[in-house]
Amino acid sequence: MDQNCLFCRIIRGEIPSAKVYEDEYVFAFRDINPQAPVHILVVPKTHIPCADAVDAENSVYVAKCFEAIAKIAEAEGLSNGYRVVNNCGEDGGQSVMHLHFHLIGGVKLSEKVV
Ligand code: AMP
Repeated sequence: MDQNCLFCRIIRGEIPSAKVYEDEYVFAFRDINPQAPVHILVVPKTHIPCADAVDAENSVYVAKCFEAIAKIAEAEGLSNGYRVVNNCGEDGGQSVMHLHFHLIGGVKLSEKVV
């Protein structure tokens, strides 16, 4: 974990968040600036800066994030689908350098990047 990282501090409880899910590997909380009725950030409980930094040592955290996404989506009633987004680095628009997945849904999503 990183001393000054915003999401590490949220995971440690030093900064308040609207937590929706937690297990040994994953912490998930509502985005402070939601882009849809459901907008949850799913975050590994270890400091992986971005998708570039995923490797054989830490990829279990990524798998656990997606296991959590399925559970959270069900709990949030997203049975008709949802979108998972990861922004990586400057060109990808990443603003918090701690790997996270945006779980977005609760409405028919229109804009598609790909
Ligand atoms: P990204 O731009 O992909 O790095 O996403 C960072 C996300 O973190 C943005 O959607 C922000 O709205 C969100 N965010 C920033 N600070 C907080 C916070 N304290 N609690 C919840 N979400 C936050």
